[in-house]
Amino acid sequence: MKTIQKYMNLDSKQDLALKQEYMNSFQDPEFREYIETLPISENILIHYTSRLKEASEEFHHCKNCKGLAFCQNKIKGYLLMARQEYKTINFSYVACHYEQEKNQTLTYQTYLSYYEMSEEMKKASMQRVYKDDKKRIPIIKYFTEFIKQYEKDESPRGMYLYGSFGSGKTYLIAALLNELAKRHVRSAVVYFPEFLRHLKASFHEDFEEKFQSIKKAPILLLDDIGAENLTAWSRDEILGPILQYRMEQNLPTFFTSNLNLEELESHLSMTTSGVDKVKARRIIERIKQLTTSFELISENRRK
Ligand code: ADP
Ligand code: MG
Repeated sequence: MKTIQKYMNLDSKQDLALKQEYMNSFQDPEFREYIETLPISENILIHYTSRLKEASEEFHHCKNCKGLAFCQNKIKGYLLMARQEYKTINFSYVACHYEQEKNQTLTYQTYLSYYEMSEEMKKASMQRVYKDDKKRIPIIKYFTEFIKQYEKDESPRGMYLYGSFGSGKTYLIAALLNELAKRHVRSAVVYFPEFLRHLKASFHEDFEEKFQSIKKAPILLLDDIGAENLTAWSRDEILGPILQYRMEQNLPTFFTSNLNLEELESHLSMTTSGVDKVKARRIIERIKQLTTSFELISENRRK
């Protein structure tokens, strides 16, 4: 603990008063704890007791804070920080780590369009991908290679990632696209079954705009293909043209599914208007041209 004795040689009345005020505050263990985090000598500190008390209060609010919604500081998401400048202290409001994280999330998210995806997926990150499961290693390797090639303008192939429910397929690809967004690459992430419902509902509104923005997105994830209620219209007028365009333009396209390609083919062949194996086959051929397939069968991570 720092002591006050060394100031005893201060002589002016004003200095004595400052010292007294500082000493009084120093009795408070929380204040002391805060002061001990500062690399500033005490003969400077004693001139700023009241602001330091404020900063100490904010420091302790932040110490036990669970998130921005619980912020108790004067300016939400910010804390008063003391920094030495020559023989004075400069106090300024600095964004806390929750606020910084939020800002970072907001900036990269301007590069992403999400249709009906959970908040959790918007925050998925490569750093947080579980590494305990060896089955993810080839997928992560593919991603690393993908980023390298994409940055060299080589339009690498996307991925068809299939496997068991809750194994983390969507999370993995969302993490990749978020990573790319941080590098200013635009993607669209579409929960496919819901996207089809939206398109149908918006037929007389902004249908064309929605459809085009997905078709032309620089990178696209069609999430959970095979889980939709398929009609001939959604297969032949929506899915088919999206894939055709993306193939012609070399636009990387990702898919997740609970079905492998064989099962997807059989799903795609059956619509409410009957069975059409040729049309289903054609879609599968496009998916094969656009992607490399990976399987991810793993424990269900959904809580
Ligand atoms: P799938 O798309 O295969 O059905 P999800 O990607 O939705 O599975 O993952 C299931 C759950 O597990 C989600 O709640 C997801 O956030 C979580 N999850 C999956 N993989 C990870 C991961 N690598 N790190 C953190 N959470 C994960
Ligand atoms: Mg999923």
